[in-house]
Amino acid sequence: MKGLLSFKHGVHPPENKDITAGIASRRFPFPDEIILPLSQHIGTPAKALVQPGDRVERGDAIAEAAGYISSAVHATASGTVKSIELWPHPNGDMVPSIRIDVDPNSTQMQRPRIIPRWQDVKDEDLSKEIAKAGIVGLGGAAFPSHVKLTPPKDQPIELLLINGCECEPYLTSDHRTMLEYPERVYLGIRIALKALGISRAVIGIEANKMDAVEVMRKAAPDDLDVTVLPLQVKYPQGAEKMLIKAVMGREVPSGALPSAIGAMVQNVATAANVATVFETGQPLIERIITVTGRGIRKPGNWLIPFGTKLRDVVKHCGGLTEDAAEIIFGGPMMGLGQANLDVPILKATGGILILSRDECKRQDILPCIRCGKCLDACPVFLNPQLLGILAKAERYEEMASEAHLSDCMLCGCCSYVCPSNIPLSQLFAASRAQLRKLATP
Ligand code: SF4
Ligand code: SF4
Repeated sequence: MKGLLSFKHGVHPPENKDITAGIASRRFPFPDEIILPLSQHIGTPAKALVQPGDRVERGDAIAEAAGYISSAVHATASGTVKSIELWPHPNGDMVPSIRIDVDPNSTQMQRPRIIPRWQDVKDEDLSKEIAKAGIVGLGGAAFPSHVKLTPPKDQPIELLLINGCECEPYLTSDHRTMLEYPERVYLGIRIALKALGISRAVIGIEANKMDAVEVMRKAAPDDLDVTVLPLQVKYPQGAEKMLIKAVMGREVPSGALPSAIGAMVQNVATAANVATVFETGQPLIERIITVTGRGIRKPGNWLIPFGTKLRDVVKHCGGLTEDAAEIIFGGPMMGLGQANLDVPILKATGGILILSRDECKRQDILPCIRCGKCLDACPVFLNPQLLGILAKAERYEEMASEAHLSDCMLCGCCSYVCPSNIPLSQLFAASRAQLRKLATP
């Protein structure tokens, strides 16, 4: 590990990736029903293009972007639109969603689509094709990719950083993407470089995936200026700002985007899915998802169509074990706990973690002992102890103005190290929600 690049602070939670790292991805069966929320991305929810009774084919656009920071939604299986109604979303809200009765007799083969040769598309028009395909960042944030690929003119990009860190414990879907589809990742890199009008890329991979480093190095095309860089294993190495710090040695200023310092970060799975759009015409309708934890009987990596309900995933993976205690969308550090088995898989769902009682021992919350461990862990040098005191006192405005709450990545490092078990990052997420409420007229 010595000599490998990284960032300051951070934590080393148990990795637990061995449960699924060696399991190759397999196609998940198509369920009887698909639920596609109009909001699966950061930005304005998409606008439905279909009505109940409409027949849709797999890959058809069923909702269009409703603004620049928005994203299209496509049918992930052929069938008939049953309704557009409020449905439970993994974020806990009820959101307008398109319900599709999946055709049990369809082969789910996609009909041929006309796709432009990416080499013939003007650099500036590539992002329009990517927008049409509903591509969003698959690293967790689900930010529309076409927006990232068209940075402000006064912030030219120098370096494309491909994020293969997958620093969240348990998750292995990006790892499998690199092992199984390195050529697709490279095609996605070529297309992103052309869209940005630059020539250089670095792929950052945590050193606990040296097989992926080797595969990506072997598959690197000779004509591409790309470096595959193993990085120290430390959480949250895969956070954009931490990756930039490790690879470029630069800090993204508070409140700014990576483009401010000439960087653009794209996840390996996003790159692979951009390639799929131009190789096959298939928009973003499925992804590799890790289903893991000691609370599920058959863990694995699955290519799952978006809109598949959690209930169907659990059933196909052998069901819950007797001591299953908690279901999380994402990893244990930043994931969202789920209480409803009817929530659908979204574009941003990289993993489903089902923890056993032993894996998620709940402990009593004790008073802060001012040990300072949370300050030493915070990768963006905030004062989580102070933020915690202010959150408890409901002094939300002060959290924003004096303690820089907006810089908090909700990474969970502070909660992880706190000997008093104070759920700091959860308090900060709730405080942000309160501030949004206060700002709404
Ligand atoms: S959750 Fe926020 S305050 Fe806590 S360590 Fe992460 S960035 Fe720092
Ligand atoms: S780690 Fe916990 S106990 Fe220690 S200073 Fe921070 S909030 Fe207080």
